[in-house]
This record gives sequence, structure tokens and C-alpha cells, in this order.
Amino acid sequence: MMHETLSYGSRTDVGLVREHNEDSLVARPPLFAVADGMGGHEAGEIASEIAIETLVSQAPPTPDAKELGNAVVAANHAVMAASANGIGKPGMGTTLTAAILKGDELAIAQVGDSRAYLLHAGQLQQLTRDHSYVADLVEQGEITEEEARWHPQRSVITRALGGDENMVPDLYELNVERGDRLLLCSDGLYGMVTDERMQAILEEHPDPQEATDALVEEAKLEGGHDNITAVVVNILRDAPQTAKASTKKTRRYLASFLCIFLVVIALAVVGIFTYARSNAYLIAQDDKVTVYRGILNSGLSWYERTTDV
Ligand code: MN
Repeated sequence: MMHETLSYGSRTDVGLVREHNEDSLVARPPLFAVADGMGGHEAGEIASEIAIETLVSQAPPTPDAKELGNAVVAANHAVMAASANGIGKPGMGTTLTAAILKGDELAIAQVGDSRAYLLHAGQLQQLTRDHSYVADLVEQGEITEEEARWHPQRSVITRALGGDENMVPDLYELNVERGDRLLLCSDGLYGMVTDERMQAILEEHPDPQEATDALVEEAKLEGGHDNITAVVVNILRDAPQTAKASTKKTRRYLASFLCIFLVVIALAVVGIFTYARSNAYLIAQDDKVTVYRGILNSGLSWYERTTDV
């Protein structure tokens, strides 16, 4: 899909093992989000859908992380209210990784173990921190990233929507550059496919929808143990920005040219004066021989002294 300043693709897939797809997503510029529901017997689907619906209605139009965070808090309350009212199941919950991307500004609000990555300057960087038991163990140096991938408690998350009315999301605000690519995904993707492989797939597929499809297919090739969701956003060079940049460039060229021109003029002036000073001539003036420096009969001569001769 194309939009003024970005193009994007998205896909969610049940995977090869689960009966239900409890993941939900939204890709509606400037808003992009992934939610991974939990609760069993379709409750996870309901939780992630309510979270996404609330987010869509409450999200700010600009990349303001605080306001985006407020929308995620509203989504938390909506999931809690639903289960309190007998919708879904008690204890149902969901992760939520939400992004607002406009121009070169990106705001993210994060709860749970879905992730946001940025492919920037040939490097896929994980932007968000997982709220999970294994992420804590990795941070404490107890296990490695690779061990976390296969840890028996890898699906235990330490923060989610739906369980705690005082839940607060992590907020991030950062600048992106034209050419960067944003990836949002559930653990069904990064749990099956390494970061290195995800980066390679993104680089093999410049088109965001093709990249999304290839990422999901790769997770299924690796076993597809969980629901798989991916959103890929390409940050493009839009027309107004390019025009502005080229005007700036032209101005910079003009300034350099002017500088060089002034230096050449200055050197020429210094050269002429040096030459003129090295010359002298004598003139009979008031019956005395007078010494002049410079070039005869030109503006470039000046009186030096009158002799007694
Ligand atoms: Mn999952």
C-alpha cells in the first residue's frame, strides 16, 4: 500500500500448530500496531481485537508518544471492562506494540513481548524491550538470546493489557530517516526466525508487502509454532521533502561558489598590488626628482619620496 511518505504491508497468519489466530494488527497510516492476545478459547482473539479497536479510536494523529501511551492505557481499560462484562474470558489479555509514524518522527508505545524493529543503515535494531520473563533473564546475564528462544518459559510475559488497571506502557520517541524500514511483529515471527534472517529477508524484498509475506512464510518453514504477525513500513523520499533538500543543496553550492569567487578576487588584488609595489619610477616634480612606486600612468601608483636631486 502507498501513502504520501511511506509504503507498507501487513499479514497475520494462524501458523501451523494453533487452532485460532489470537494476533491482531492495524496498518492505517500514521498508525501501525500488532497485538498478541492470550486467554484461550478465542478469548485472546477478543482481547487483541478490543485493544486494536480502542487504539484506532484513541490514537493521536501525530507521533506523540505520551498521547499514544494514553491510547494504550485506554485499550487496557477497555480489555478489562470487557472481561468484567462477560465478554471473552476473565484473565484474558494481550500484548500491544503501537507506532505512529509521520515524516521522520516515530512514536512507539509498548506492552508485552511483541516487538518493533528498525532496519537502519544496513542494521536491524530491536527498538522495544520485551516485558517477558526470559528478557529479564537475558538482561541479568542468566541466559543468552539464543537460549531465550527455546526457554520453556519463553511465553511468560511480565506486562500485558487486561490484568492491571495501573499498567503503564513503555514509550519511545525517535527520528527515522528516508530509506529506513519499520518492522512490527509478534513473537510467532521472531521466536521462529533469527534477527539476522529477518534482516536478510527484508533486504531481499524491498517491497513491504512482499517482505511481510516472506517473513511469515519463513516462520512457517521454521515450524510455525505460534500465530505469526508482521507489519513492514518503508519510509520513502516524498516529493516535498526532496524539493526542500535540493533547494538546500543548491543554496549550499551557490555559497561555495561565492566563497571561491571572493578568494580568487582577493588573490588577484594582492597579486596586482605586490607587482605594483615592486615597481618604481622617477618623475621630475617641482624641479626635484620624485620617486613613485607602482605602475606609471595608472591608478596603481603612489608617492614615495622627493629627492634632493
Ligand atoms: Mn504469540
